[in-house]
Amino acid sequence: MTFTTASYRANSKLARTNNDDLQTCLSSSLPFSIRTIYPCSTLANQNSSRYQCDHFNVNELSSVRGGRIAHFPAVIVYATDSNDVQNVVKCATKLNYIINARSGGHSYEGYCLGSIYNNIVINMEAINYIHINQYDGTGTFGAGARIGPIYYRTYQYNYTINAGTCAWMGLTGHALGGGQGFLGRLHGLLSDNILEMKAVNAQGELITINKTHEPELYWALRGAGGGLFVVVTEFKIRLVKPPSLVRHFSSTWYPNAAKLVMQRYQSLLFDDQISNFSNKLVLRMDVEKTHVEISILYFGIEFDEFIKTILLLLATVPTPNRINLYEQDWLTFVYKMSGIDDDSGDHRQLLLDRLTYPTYRFKAKHLFYDRPISSHSLDKFIDRLASGDGQIIMIFIPWDGYLSTIPVDETAFPYRHFKFGIQFIVRPNDEQHEKQQMNWLNQVYLAVYNDSTKHAYINYIDRDVPNWMNVYYHTHQQRLINIQHMRIKRGK
Ligand SMILES: Cc1cc2nc3c(=O)[nH]c(=O)nc-3n(C[C@H](O)[C@H](O)[C@H](O)COP(=O)(O)OP(=O)(O)OC[C@H]3O[C@@H](n4cnc5c(N)ncnc54)[C@H](O)[C@@H]3O)c2cc1C
Repeated sequence: MTFTTASYRANSKLARTNNDDLQTCLSSSLPFSIRTIYPCSTLANQNSSRYQCDHFNVNELSSVRGGRIAHFPAVIVYATDSNDVQNVVKCATKLNYIINARSGGHSYEGYCLGSIYNNIVINMEAINYIHINQYDGTGTFGAGARIGPIYYRTYQYNYTINAGTCAWMGLTGHALGGGQGFLGRLHGLLSDNILEMKAVNAQGELITINKTHEPELYWALRGAGGGLFVVVTEFKIRLVKPPSLVRHFSSTWYPNAAKLVMQRYQSLLFDDQISNFSNKLVLRMDVEKTHVEISILYFGIEFDEFIKTILLLLATVPTPNRINLYEQDWLTFVYKMSGIDDDSGDHRQLLLDRLTYPTYRFKAKHLFYDRPISSHSLDKFIDRLASGDGQIIMIFIPWDGYLSTIPVDETAFPYRHFKFGIQFIVRPNDEQHEKQQMNWLNQVYLAVYNDSTKHAYINYIDRDVPNWMNVYYHTHQQRLINIQHMRIKRGK
C-alpha cells in the first residue's frame, strides 16, 4: 500500500475492474455497523444490505465544488475508531490499494479523495472527539474534529488553538500542512504545538509519534502536508491562551489609490519600526478589483501600539474612503472571520446547525515574498486586475514574528524566513466562466511572480505548480524523500 498526496501519483497499474476481493476483505474484517459504500457499477448485488452503493457521492465529501474531482474511488469507508482504520489499511496493503484519508474535506484540490482511480477513501469525520486537559493546557483531538468546535470547546476552558480561520476545515489536513492563522505571529503555526500523534502505518499498526518515538515522522508530519506516510487518528496539542480582546481597525480605498496603499503596506512590513512591534499585531491587506483594504489587528487590551500603527499607516496614504474600528472577544472574532455572520452569540449552535458545511467554487494560488514587490510589477498587477470580470481577491498576510524565530529544521515546514505571503483566489459564479476566470487569476499571479521567492504554502495546494516538491518543500525535500525510502525499506 502507498499513502499518496498531491503528486505522489503513479501506480496506474493498480487500476482494477473488479473489487470483489476488496469487498470480501473489508466485510470480513470490519464490524457490520461500519458504512462501506461502493460505486454501484462495481457491485454484483446492488440490493444487498451488506454492500451499499446508493449513497456513493464523492463530490459531497469535498468542500471544493466544480469539476476538479475526476476519478472514482473503489470504496468509501466511514471509520468510527482507529481499529477500523487499522483493518482498512491491512486490506489495502494485502490487496495493493492506495489509501486516502479524508478528515475535514477542505483540501483546495479535493485531495482528501486522492488523485488516482480506484483508491480507498477513509472518511475520518466520525472520529471527532475533543478532550481538554485544563491542568496541563493540552487538548487531545480525534483526527476528524473540525476547527470550529475545537475553538468553541477550548474557549470554555479559557484556552484556544493557534489555527486558521475557517470553522469547518478539518484539524488534520490543516495541522499536518502547518496551520497558519491570526495568532501565528504570537504562537507560530498550529503544527509547532503538536506534542504527539497516534497514527496507523502501512502495516496496519497503531503507532505513537512524538519527539522520542518515531522522531523522523514527528518532524515530517509537522508541516509537510496531509496524505503522507501514515493515517493520523489522534493529535495531542499544546493549547495557548486566547487574547483577552481583539481590536480591529480597517481602512478601505478605491482602486485609484491602490498602488500607493500597496506600497505603504509593504514598507510597513519591511520597515524596522514595524518589525520591532509586538507579535500581538497583525497587518493584513485584501486587494480586490473594486477596492483595497488594510486591517490592523491587535490581540490584547493595550492601546498604545495599536494606535501608533494606525497613525503610521495613515501618515503617508490618501485619506481612506471608509474606516471601521471595533473590538470583539476572541471567539466572536474567530466566527466572524469564518464568515458566520450571526450575532446570536451561541456559536456552538451555529456549528451544530450547519452539519452540512459550505462548499466553494474557487481556485487559489499562493506565493511567499522576502522583499517588496517592485513598482513596475505593481503597475502590471493593477493593470491585469482591472482587465478581468468577476470576483478575484488577493490576501496579503505576514509570516513573521514568533513563527520565524523557530529554527527552520525544527519541523518540516520550510518557510520561516519569508516576510509575507499572498493568496490569490478566484471565485467563478458558474462552470461556464471558470476557464476565463482561471486565466485571469493566472495573469494577475504572473504579474508579481518574479518578485516572489517562487515558493508556496502546501495548505494552499495548487495542482498546477510546476516542480511541486521544490515549491512546497524547498530545502526539506531530500529529507522527506529519505523518510519515504526508509519506510519502504522497513516495510512501513
Ligand atoms: C475555506 C477554507 C479556509 C481555509 N483557511 C485556512 C487558514 O486560515 N489557514 C491555513 O493554514 N489553511 C487554511 N485552509 C487550508 C486548509 O488548512 C487545508 O485545505 C487543509 O488541508 C484542510 O484540512 P482538512 O482535514 O479539512 O482536509 P482534507 O481535504 O480532509 O485533507 C487534506 C489532505 O490531508 C490528507 N489527510 C486527511 N486526513 C488525514 C489523516 N487522518 N491522516 C493523514 N492524512 C490525512 C488528505 O488525504 C489530503 O491529502 C483553508 C481551506 C479552506 C477550504
